[in-house]
Amino acid sequence: MPRTVLVTGGNRGIGLAIAREFLDRGDRVAVTYRNEPPTGEFTAVRCDVADMDQIDAAFTTVEAEIGPVEILVSNAGVTEDRPMIRMQEEHFSRVLDTNLTGGWRCARRALPKMLRGRWGRIVFVSSVAGLRGNPGQANYAASKAGMVGMARSMAREYATAGVTVNVVAPGLIETDMSASLPEARRAAHLAEIPAGRAGGAEEVAAAVAWLAGERAGYVTGAVIPVDGGLGMGH
Ligand code: NDP
Repeated sequence: MPRTVLVTGGNRGIGLAIAREFLDRGDRVAVTYRNEPPTGEFTAVRCDVADMDQIDAAFTTVEAEIGPVEILVSNAGVTEDRPMIRMQEEHFSRVLDTNLTGGWRCARRALPKMLRGRWGRIVFVSSVAGLRGNPGQANYAASKAGMVGMARSMAREYATAGVTVNVVAPGLIETDMSASLPEARRAAHLAEIPAGRAGGAEEVAAAVAWLAGERAGYVTGAVIPVDGGLGMGH
């Protein structure tokens, strides 16, 4: 049965791969973007997840064009890496505001209609860094770890209401974000990955689509790694 899907940050990278995966499945798919909308059969809505008014307007547009959001994929995310001793409070707050509070804002806007429809799927795109930590990423790792407690709290609240809330934790995935890593850091990451390679965005998309599917209705509060074994044991 086709569902209405909203993917934040769905104009490129992992978000775009997720949006394409849902399109291929036959769903009605909306994506948010800030500057460049993606090409494809998407409903594209301009939205900065740091702004509740923009999120509200984006959801209202999606609801009018393709129906209430039944599957929310909170994917939009940023990094502002620097060592702790050079990290200012604004670097910490900005990353938390987009990655963690942005996800909270979208889920807050989506949940009432999911509960009314007695069916919903929320998937947060976290990171292996949230579980392992990463040098230079105290802000980013905190935002991604926070998603786990947030998702599990929501999962407990709505498990009897037909709404599941899960997390995927990608490792090193080939996108613009990972392309900005210094070569030495990238080589160090690669050396640690049991699979010996970076992942593709479509490999994350496959896990998200499974979590959002009918057949994953008994899976909630889970953290699914898509990391070539990098985070094993965490
Ligand atoms: P990209 O940098 O390629 O894309 C980031 C996406 O997030 C873009 O669509 C961007 O939109 C959007 N975005 C950023 N800030 C905001 C904002 N304030 N409001 C709305 N949209 C915003 O990153 P990836 O595709 O690699 O990452 C996607 C997610 O996966 C992120 O949450 C990231 O943390 C996570 N992740 C990525 C890994 C990797 O190795 N690539 C590993 C683990 C997790 P715009 O085009 O407008 O800037």
